[in-house]
Amino acid sequence: MEENEIRPEAVFDQFLALAERDATRYFGGIPFSRIRCPACDSDDSVFAFHKRGFDYETCLLCETLFVNPRPGLDAFRRYYREAPSIRFWANFLRLLGEDGKERSQQFLADHGLISHIWMMVAQCR
Ligand SMILES: [Zn+2]
Repeated sequence: MEENEIRPEAVFDQFLALAERDATRYFGGIPFSRIRCPACDSDDSVFAFHKRGFDYETCLLCETLFVNPRPGLDAFRRYYREAPSIRFWANFLRLLGEDGKERSQQFLADHGLISHIWMMVAQCR
């Protein structure tokens, strides 16, 4: 596939379909634990919304949005090693070339799309 053949909406739709399956496969039926804010370590957060099986909270101190409670790090490690949606997205970034990460973020912003996956990625750093 050439870069000019890529239709971002179709790519993202496919990614979302894979991610939804992966969320159930890798995070369904395992224990979730409450965490402190991954950005500032505050334990003062409030429920924001529920999406695709995950509760999101907003930190009252720094306004970071994060999944809480969340699966353990072992589940995330397995997910990032094995999940088809992660491989799919990595291949998409490779197709975009050297500046793929920046362009994919711009793509998400341009299309008003926020992936719960990316929010969880941020929390695992
Ligand atoms: Zn915070």
